[in-house]
Amino acid sequence: MTAKPESPLAARPDAPDTTGPGDPRIDGIAPHVKEIIRILGLSPETDPNLTGTDRRVAKMYLEIFSGLDEGTRPNLTTFPNDEHYTSMVIEKEIPFYSMCAHHFVPFYGHGHIAYIPNERIVGLSKLPRLLDFFAKRPQLQERLTEQVAGVLEEELKPLGVMVVLEARHLCVEMRGVRKPGSVTVTSAIRGVFKQKAVREEFLDLLRRPGVI
Ligand SMILES: [Zn+2]
Repeated sequence: MTAKPESPLAARPDAPDTTGPGDPRIDGIAPHVKEIIRILGLSPETDPNLTGTDRRVAKMYLEIFSGLDEGTRPNLTTFPNDEHYTSMVIEKEIPFYSMCAHHFVPFYGHGHIAYIPNERIVGLSKLPRLLDFFAKRPQLQERLTEQVAGVLEEELKPLGVMVVLEARHLCVEMRGVRKPGSVTVTSAIRGVFKQKAVREEFLDLLRRPGVI
């Protein structure tokens, strides 16, 4: 296959290669990406749109799978619950992006995390960070949901935790059954959220439109 004349949308051949040397894993992954491009019948050497794609993809993988790197798990800073706050704390509509472990295409959506404190409370910014950390690896939505709930239960020892994730899976929308717009919902429940009334309170607050 020969390279087509450059379209206005084509990457400029003089566009700087921002990938750089850096992480040795880029050199490990890039040749395999190039080989896939070749096997698909394309010309990574001559097609200006594919110049550098191998290294860009390699670098992107390292970025979107950074949750696999050692030392990236966020420290959950907790504080003593001195005010004896025992109502529900909810962080909702937290956007997340992950990659389906079965197909290596994205699934993405929103997470809603609730807990009822016991002895400790957690800094609110840690909840999105925790979701982000577990999302940045090849994942299953079910496992992602459980992992977030599991860590909060383990580290906060709250009265209860509930995590709900709503996501669109490109492996369902672009290929396979091709059902654009379908949403997969998963939940993980710990402690007092097993009681229907507590769970309902959380779900009711999720349904309420934002007022901010
Ligand atoms: Zn998939």
